[in-house]
Amino acid sequence: MAILVCGGAGYIGSHMVAALLEKGEEVVIVDNLQKGHREALLGGKLYVGDLRDRSFLDKVFSENEIDSVIDFAADSLVGESVNEPLKYFENNVGGTVSLLQAMRDHNVKYIVFSSTAATYGEPERIPIMEEDKTFPTNPYGESKLTVEKILKWCDNAYGIKYTALRYFNAAGAHISGNIGEDHSPETHLIPIILEAALGKREKVMIFGDDYDTKDGTCVRDYIHVMDLASAHLLALDRLKMGGESRVYNLGNGEGFSVKEVIEVARKVTGVNIKADMAPRRAGDPAVLIASSEKALEELNWKPKFNSLETIIETAWNWHKNHPKGY
Ligand code: UDP
Repeated sequence: MAILVCGGAGYIGSHMVAALLEKGEEVVIVDNLQKGHREALLGGKLYVGDLRDRSFLDKVFSENEIDSVIDFAADSLVGESVNEPLKYFENNVGGTVSLLQAMRDHNVKYIVFSSTAATYGEPERIPIMEEDKTFPTNPYGESKLTVEKILKWCDNAYGIKYTALRYFNAAGAHISGNIGEDHSPETHLIPIILEAALGKREKVMIFGDDYDTKDGTCVRDYIHVMDLASAHLLALDRLKMGGESRVYNLGNGEGFSVKEVIEVARKVTGVNIKADMAPRRAGDPAVLIASSEKALEELNWKPKFNSLETIIETAWNWHKNHPKGY
């Protein structure tokens, strides 16, 4: 039986594919390659196409014995989602609805869904627990929360069991250094810092230093991409063993400010990376830190790369050896 990875050529998806191949699983990948990279796939059978194309999905499900799905396919830029909400609802919600229709029609019962800390919006307490209020402050978070609700009703009606994993800040790269993060344009903090270390950009702009945090800059919970992948493996195993549908946070439970991340990156790279202050970025909450107690206990999840230094080291290894990306 095969596992279908949607969005498998993207940043997190490609690391998931690597983890599945390392486990000896048969992997089928669907990606429209709008942002994904063919070269990010270390194996598996790739179908290039879009989730919103039902006949394309029927072909993928008919040609393979798929028993479960891991879904990463989505647009994921907070700022862009504020300016283009319909793009986000059409792709993120529409794509997953089409995928769920295909799963229903082809009798596939398990899905692990890529959700986000952005479902919470401005947190009511730190660390954030799964049962805390969800009030997204941008269309990206709203689109993911909408899919979580759709999943609940699909479980109720069709018996499709799901796990929604709410990631905090995904970072780092595969330990081999062969795959890593490659977005264009890049908007995420750690790759931007490392591009500055490589001389690809002059400096890092720090978005706001007047937040109510230890040094005035935003605090985030950075989690290694391979630790995210291992949580998906555990979540899928749990569903296949008869586990009920669940939502879990995935983070390290420790927060680092933007200034602290830059400082750790200076140590790891040995480069005196330049940084300058800039205005706040719209929609950024001051602090996002996960409580991952539920995933640690119920999934028996054990993050391995849980120091920021190690996370940045693995990312640096990728960026240094692939200064132009794939
Ligand atoms: N950030 C920054 N400069 C940049 C990119 C990001 O100061 O060039 C900040 C951003 O405001 C946020 C944190 O770094 O507080 C993490 O941002 P990122 O885009 O990596 O992840 P997000 O929290 O949006 O998922």
